[in-house]
Amino acid sequence: MIIKNVSLETVCGYTSKLPKNTKPEIAFAGKSNVGKSSLINALMNRKALARTSGQPGKTQTINFYNVNDELYLTDLPGYGFAKVSQKEKEKWGTMIENYLNSSEQLRAVFLLVDIRHEPSANDKMMYEWMVYQGFHPIIIATKADKIKRSQLQKQLKVIRLGLNTEKGAILIPFSAETKQGREEIWDLVDQILAS
Ligand code: GDP
Repeated sequence: MIIKNVSLETVCGYTSKLPKNTKPEIAFAGKSNVGKSSLINALMNRKALARTSGQPGKTQTINFYNVNDELYLTDLPGYGFAKVSQKEKEKWGTMIENYLNSSEQLRAVFLLVDIRHEPSANDKMMYEWMVYQGFHPIIIATKADKIKRSQLQKQLKVIRLGLNTEKGAILIPFSAETKQGREEIWDLVDQILAS
């Protein structure tokens, strides 16, 4: 994918209607601080278009980035803030569920997990949720530059086991620092869009 132009086109809050986009959407989910903004920025060749680390209590939104007027990268709100109230968590859940359920253009979902850690209970829940909604989530193991090469296979295994991934599930190590995995992700998106 050659990036010609990108823009943040739509920001949806809890009460907003989802946009009726006519181009395909690719969604990204993950707990806050996993590196989701860094990944989306790296995919778009931008330094800081996608928001960086949200703060607890910050408005949770679904952001749609228009790429080349060809597709949207959808940035789902990060989860896992311990300090967020139960009510906020419920709002978050409703928003994501509604999006996964009702977007007519959603073609693939990516779930980001930190390569260094065992997936959290929230990661597992999110993965199961996506599978339940009929998706075959693609997993991205972020911050790959933070582990030694010799640890890579072991950590990927920890992630597969932790999430109890579907047979044949795709798992891509990624680093926003080295851009490892960027081409692989775009190739995959290209394939998905062509299918
Ligand atoms: P988000 O909350 O999921 O959007 O996470 P961010 O993209 O804001 O990243 C959270 C923190 O992790 C920031 O300090 C980033 O600089 C750092 N980070 C993100 N991706 C990487 C990566 O691939 N390698 C390293 N070393 N740090 C990263």
